[in-house]
Amino acid sequence: MSFRPLTPDFAISPQLSVADVNAAASQGFRTIICARPDGEGAGQTPAAEIEQAARCRGLDFVAIPVRSGASPDDSAVAAMNAALKQMPGPVLGYCQSGNRAARLWALTQMGSLSKDAILMAGRAAGIDLSTLGDRLDTASHSAQDSSGKASSRRFNIVIAGGGAAGLSTAASILKRRPNVSVAIIEPSTSHYYQPGWTLVGGGVFTPEQTRRSEEKLIPSGATWIRQSVTAFQPDAREVVLDDGTALSYDILIVATGLSLDWAGIAGLPETLGKNGVTSNYRYDLAPYTWQLVQGLSRGTALFTQPPMPIKCAGAPQKAMYLSCDAWRRRGVLKDISVEFDTTTPALFGVAAYVPALMNYIERYGIDLRLRSKLIAVDGPQRIATFERVTDNGTTQVQRSFDMLHVVPPQVAPDVVKNSPLAGADGFVSVDPATLRHTTFADVFALGDVAGTSNAKTAAAVRKQAPVVAVNVLAALDGKAPVAIYDGYGACPLTVERGRIVLAEFAYGGKLEPSLPLWLLRGTEPTRLAWFLKEKVMPPLYWHGMLRGHELMVAPQKAPGA
Ligand code: FAD
Repeated sequence: MSFRPLTPDFAISPQLSVADVNAAASQGFRTIICARPDGEGAGQTPAAEIEQAARCRGLDFVAIPVRSGASPDDSAVAAMNAALKQMPGPVLGYCQSGNRAARLWALTQMGSLSKDAILMAGRAAGIDLSTLGDRLDTASHSAQDSSGKASSRRFNIVIAGGGAAGLSTAASILKRRPNVSVAIIEPSTSHYYQPGWTLVGGGVFTPEQTRRSEEKLIPSGATWIRQSVTAFQPDAREVVLDDGTALSYDILIVATGLSLDWAGIAGLPETLGKNGVTSNYRYDLAPYTWQLVQGLSRGTALFTQPPMPIKCAGAPQKAMYLSCDAWRRRGVLKDISVEFDTTTPALFGVAAYVPALMNYIERYGIDLRLRSKLIAVDGPQRIATFERVTDNGTTQVQRSFDMLHVVPPQVAPDVVKNSPLAGADGFVSVDPATLRHTTFADVFALGDVAGTSNAKTAAAVRKQAPVVAVNVLAALDGKAPVAIYDGYGACPLTVERGRIVLAEFAYGGKLEPSLPLWLLRGTEPTRLAWFLKEKVMPPLYWHGMLRGHELMVAPQKAPGA
C-alpha cells in the first residue's frame, strides 16, 4: 500500500487492512482517521478491527465516517479539526479511495492555507479538491495564505487578541453556535498562564508550566490570523492589520489586554534581569526572582507597586510574601530588610482583606510605605528613587537595594487609546454590566483592556467570557444584551508557601465568595485556597475556561431578558 501525502503531516489511503496498519506504523504515522462508514463494500475491514490493530501498534485512532457521495457536513469537519489539533501527527486518513479523507482534511485547512495551496496539495495526492466548490472560498470561513496574510476579509465575529479573554470568549461562542465565522487576531505563537508567574517567582512552578502553543488553544472552528491590529475603525466596521489589510466584521470583540510600561520608570528597561532587578510580570524574568531569593542571605529587598489600574493588584505583594517566607524558612529573614513601596493609599483595595495581610506585614517585619512611587532605578549603583507623598507634599527618597522586585505601570495599548473606542482613561469604554461599547453597539470588550472597575484578573475573564458570548450572539440576531456581569474578580494572595488569602469581590468591593464560608473563609489564610491555586486553577484554565467549559460561571440574565 502506498500512502499519498498532502502535507508532511497528513496523507491519505484507500481502505486499509490490518497489514496496512502495520506498514503505516513502520512508516512513522501516529494517528489513523477513518472517513468511511462500516458495511459499504464486501471485504471492507471494519473500523473496529483497524482501530484495534492501530492501538496495538501504539497509534491513535478516530472514526469520522462520511457517507459515500456526500460532502462532509459541519459536524464532521469540526470533528476532523479537533482530531488534527489533538492527535499526534503524522496522520493517515482513509476511506474507500482516500477522496473523503482528503476532502475532510481540505475543509479544515481554510484557517491556515490558501485555496490554491489546498488544491495543489490535493493534486499532488491525485485528488481533485476543486469539487468542493465555494466551500473552499466561502467568505465566512476563510483565513490566511501561506505567508500568514489574511486572504478573506469578512467574518461574523472578529476578536482582537487571543489571550485569556479572546480564547475563552471564542470557545464559549462556538460552543453555542458552531457555524458562526470567528476570526481571532493574535500575533503571538505562545500563550501564557500569567497567574502562574507568581509561583514561578516563588520557586513552585517551572516557567514551562505556564506556556502553551497558541495554535493548540485556538478553538476548533475559529480562524487564527497571526497578526496585530494596528487600527480600529468602528464606523466602517473594520480593523486594520499590521500588513496593511483590513478585516470587516458584524461584531467586534476587543481583548488585547493591557500594556506594561517598563519605560515609565527611568532606567528600568536597561537593568531588568540583572543587577538584582526583577519582575514576576514577565515570563522570562520570573525565574530570576526565585534565583535572587535563593541567593540573598542579608541586605535590602525592595518590592514596588505602581498606580492602579494594574492586572492582579495583589501580585506585587504576593512576590514579597513568598520571598519573605523562603527567607524565613532558611533562617535569614532577620538579616534582610524588606520594604514594600506602593503608590496606593491602603495595602489592598478591599478593606476586609487588609487585617490578614497586615498580620503578614508584621510577621515578616516588612517596612510598609504607602503613597510611595518608584520613579527611577540605577541598576549598576543599585539605587531606587521614590516619590513619596507626605503631609507636607511630595519628597524624593533614594534607597539602595540588593534585590528589587518591580511591577511596571500599566496602561491601555496605544492602538486602543488612540481609537474611537477609548474612554477617558484610554481603555475601551463599555457598559460595566453588558460589556457592550457605550457608543458602538456592535463592539464588545472584556479582560484587562475593558474600561471597567473590576479587578483585572483571569478570574474576572472567566465570568466575563460567557456574558460576552451570549450578548454577542444576541447582537448578531439583532437583539438587546441578554446577560450581565457583576464585576467579579479574584486575587489569591500567596501570603506564605502553602497558604493563601483568597480575595473574591465584585463591583464596589462587595465580597463574592465562590465557596461556602464554612469551607473557605477568604479573609483568612487557608491551605484549601493554596491547593486551589496550585492544583485546581491551572487545569481549570487550560482545559475548562479556554475550551468554553463554563464551570460555576453561568451568565446571569439581564433584567427583562
Ligand atoms: P492577556 O491574557 O494578556 O491577552 C491579551 C492578548 O492580546 C495577548 O495574547 C496579546 O498578544 C494580544 N494582543 C495585544 N495587542 C494586540 C493587538 N494589537 N492585536 C492583536 N492582539 C493583540 N489573574 C488571576 O485571576 N489570578 C491571579 O492569581 C493572577 N495573577 C497574576 C500574576 C501576574 C504576575 C500577572 C502578570 C497577571 C496575573 N493575573 C492573575 C492577571 C491575568 O493574567 C490577566 O488579568 C489575564 O491574563 C487577562 O486576560 P486578557 O485576555 O485580557 O489579556
